[in-house]
Amino acid sequence: MKVFFIGFGQAGGKIVDKFIEFDQRASGGSFRAIAVNTARTDLMGLQNLDFEDRVLIGQTTVKGHGVGTDNDTGAQITFDEIDIVMNAIDRKGIGETEAFIIVAGLGGGTGSGGAPVLARHLKKIYTEPVYVLAILPAPEEGRLYSYNAARSLATLVKEADNVILFDNSAWKNEGESIKGAFDRLNEEIVRRFGLLFRAGEVGSLGHVGEMVVDSSEIINTLKGGGISSVGYAISEVGGQTPEPEVGLLGRMLRRNQVEERRPEDKLMGEDRTSRVLSLVRRAMLGRLTLPCEYSTASRALVLVAGPPDELDRKGIEKAKSWVEENIAGVEVRGGDFPAQSRFVAAVVLLASIADAPRVTNLLEIAKETKATSERIDVENKIKLDESIEPLFE
Ligand code: GDP
Repeated sequence: MKVFFIGFGQAGGKIVDKFIEFDQRASGGSFRAIAVNTARTDLMGLQNLDFEDRVLIGQTTVKGHGVGTDNDTGAQITFDEIDIVMNAIDRKGIGETEAFIIVAGLGGGTGSGGAPVLARHLKKIYTEPVYVLAILPAPEEGRLYSYNAARSLATLVKEADNVILFDNSAWKNEGESIKGAFDRLNEEIVRRFGLLFRAGEVGSLGHVGEMVVDSSEIINTLKGGGISSVGYAISEVGGQTPEPEVGLLGRMLRRNQVEERRPEDKLMGEDRTSRVLSLVRRAMLGRLTLPCEYSTASRALVLVAGPPDELDRKGIEKAKSWVEENIAGVEVRGGDFPAQSRFVAAVVLLASIADAPRVTNLLEIAKETKATSERIDVENKIKLDESIEPLFE
């Protein structure tokens, strides 16, 4: 799929910068991107985006220093300066773009406030779908982050064609600081979504798959709107002398080798059909980008990537049927993505889900936070003696 990414705010910019790095290392050309921020230093820290694709907004109001955690200001600046952002997209050229993907952390100020405003404007001007890849804050970041995320998410669900969530708290390890985890989390994000969004493009073997997943299938899977989540699993091809890996997928899969290989992953004697089926089951039943009740998904898409010999057609069909039996809806699409690699990977996109405990919890925290801050505003004032006259009224 030809994707135009817009990284909004610090998290959004960093993640989009990584998508471009992967795309450049592969054959390239599937992804194009800009980054938008109110903080100059965040834009300067990016490594792969050209300087002309880094857009600073709010210069007259916040003078390049960012908006802190004030997402109202983030939204206001974006409304006021939307032309600057739209011009940057125009300048870059949308070319053959098939979908826009805005990437933003929802707990902060710039991305949280700006992403919904941009989604609205993109939808007004372009016919291509507008998706948001949104990062939920960890509870330990504080109630204000949860409050920001809940407000931004409620707006995004109305403005965008679909919101795919990644929950930082579900992916952070015990004892690890959230900031210390960012680089690792960003790798996890790019590994899953890089593969999903490159579906249908020419892989490292120079051709598309036999059962290719084209862009329209991703678009149809996401068309129900709402909130979506993604599962992923990987397995080493049994007993073969590996060819050197090339291309994006090869590298993405190789990175998993150390941290993700478990004994059951080396499925030596198993036949290829059941190998594909068990990989897809692991992807859906394992840790999702947003932990959720998978049985509530309205639609799903299954993508299996790896060496052509391993991409068993019957296995993919069986896996699709298994997914269909286990979700609420009946539309399950799927196919393959051939790549030269020692690994086979499965991505399962669970679209338009109805139940995710973290989202419910976020909304509860947000409601409590709003009620508490309104009460504090009214009650918690130093009382001055009313007999003292102010200097003027
Ligand atoms: P903004 O620049 O005002 O949009 O705010 P940030 O992007 O700095 O932070 C918003 C949220 O994103 C917070 O909840 C952060 O924990 C999270 N965040 C910041 N940087 C990263 C990152 O590199 N990766 C991930 N996964 N989350 C991040």
